[in-house]
Amino acid sequence: SDIVKFEALSPAEFFRRNREIAGFSNPTRAIYQTIRELVENSLDATETFKIPPSIKIYIDYANQSKSWISIYAEDNGIGIPGNEIPNVFGRVFYSSKYRIKQHRGIFGLGAKMVVLYAQSTTNTPILVRSAPLKSDAIYEYQLMIDITKNEPVIVSQRTIENKHGWHGTAIKVVLEGDWIKAKRRVEEYLRRTAMVAPYAEFILRGPDEDDVIKIPRVTTKMPDPPKEGLPHPKSVDVELIKQLIQRDPNVPIFEFLIENFDGVGEIIAKKFLDFVGLQPDMPVGKLMNDELINFVTKMREFNEWKRPRADWLSPIGEDILAEGVRFVLRPEVVFTVTRKPSSYMGNPFIVEAALAWGGAIEPSDKPTIYRFANKVPLIYDEGNDIVRKIVDEIDWTQYRVKFPAPLAIVVHICSTKIPYASAGKEAIAEVPEIENEVRNAVREVARKLRLYITRKEKEQELLMKYAI
Ligand code: ADP
Ligand code: MG
Repeated sequence: SDIVKFEALSPAEFFRRNREIAGFSNPTRAIYQTIRELVENSLDATETFKIPPSIKIYIDYANQSKSWISIYAEDNGIGIPGNEIPNVFGRVFYSSKYRIKQHRGIFGLGAKMVVLYAQSTTNTPILVRSAPLKSDAIYEYQLMIDITKNEPVIVSQRTIENKHGWHGTAIKVVLEGDWIKAKRRVEEYLRRTAMVAPYAEFILRGPDEDDVIKIPRVTTKMPDPPKEGLPHPKSVDVELIKQLIQRDPNVPIFEFLIENFDGVGEIIAKKFLDFVGLQPDMPVGKLMNDELINFVTKMREFNEWKRPRADWLSPIGEDILAEGVRFVLRPEVVFTVTRKPSSYMGNPFIVEAALAWGGAIEPSDKPTIYRFANKVPLIYDEGNDIVRKIVDEIDWTQYRVKFPAPLAIVVHICSTKIPYASAGKEAIAEVPEIENEVRNAVREVARKLRLYITRKEKEQELLMKYAI
């Protein structure tokens, strides 16, 4: 018949059907994306707590035709409380990272995409083993997802005595994929990850004998972990204000401002209330609907808020970044800069850049670019990224560079809110404030290169003079 039928779709079902928007578009990408999601969770679970990361990844064939691949990933992180394990892997949009703080994860999706993809292709559960810090027990689960309910299904569960004081998380998953094709991407991904995390060590063991890559830890220095923050008044919307009001509608609006937002002290709160025309002692729950909208509009317009704080961020730092780049690219020389914090729409961000020159870098017609967002390497979609655009706009002859040249540019953007262009997290959307900072950062390291090249040319001239 011609009756229109309506129905709801669960988040798990949505991502099962549309897995390409989360990066699982084909069997090669699926392997790369799986390893990436697991490694990023492992790095969050270690470096955010200043534990030097040790990450092991073992790949095996799980059937004769070699189209089923088993991926095992283990870390030495803070682990996951036993009772949280089912939701963390079995409920789309369940996360400990919905906070104002720099993380690699943001959506509460990655681990679940891995489970969804595995179960859609091989119908096998994920195996999770985890022990929180100082736990007497290791919790083990086999899990699947009830896709229509968006709920975990516990296939089996047991608790093992933690005899050796292990802490961390280990995961094993069997999925359909093409390891041979994915291998190069995965290796490149790890190499780039090591560039911005030289304090981590990685072992990647493939299915074939002697197929082992070890990336050692090259420094014990680690960046300071981020603190957890409050929203900046310029970043709010009506819905957020409504949620905050509901928590305590009786609190005077003056206190409401000071308690819930980043960088609002008594003086600024008073000034702002004057600006809006509200009494400081009015209970915040008394705001009527149009007053509420006006209040939020004024929050965005008011120009006297302090700048968003950057304590919620964890930049790599000039020294650590230089060590990572030196180790991975083996250049003749490297220059780095960590710019001062800046912000867009109330979200703090910091841009860092490295320029590597000569040595093992192959000369090419354009600078080679390495892009990172919250320490995550972005590998696909370079053509759409603002960094490519900005580096290509620069007139390099100004910096005494003549192509083909052995020149690599590394750009890292960290923020409490990275404006990713998609859920696969591969490119950064256009934000003028970020573009400006990227341009300034690249120019700053380029000027250091110019100085270096000039000096070197002078030295050579001098040597020539004496040689004659
Ligand atoms: P996100 O990383 O965006 O939060 P995920 O689905 O990848 O989303 O992970 C969900 C949650 O599971 C994380 O927020 C974290 O609390 C927990 N988690 C996942 N992997 C690990 C791990 N290796 N160690 C500790 N916690 C983890
Ligand atoms: Mg994640």
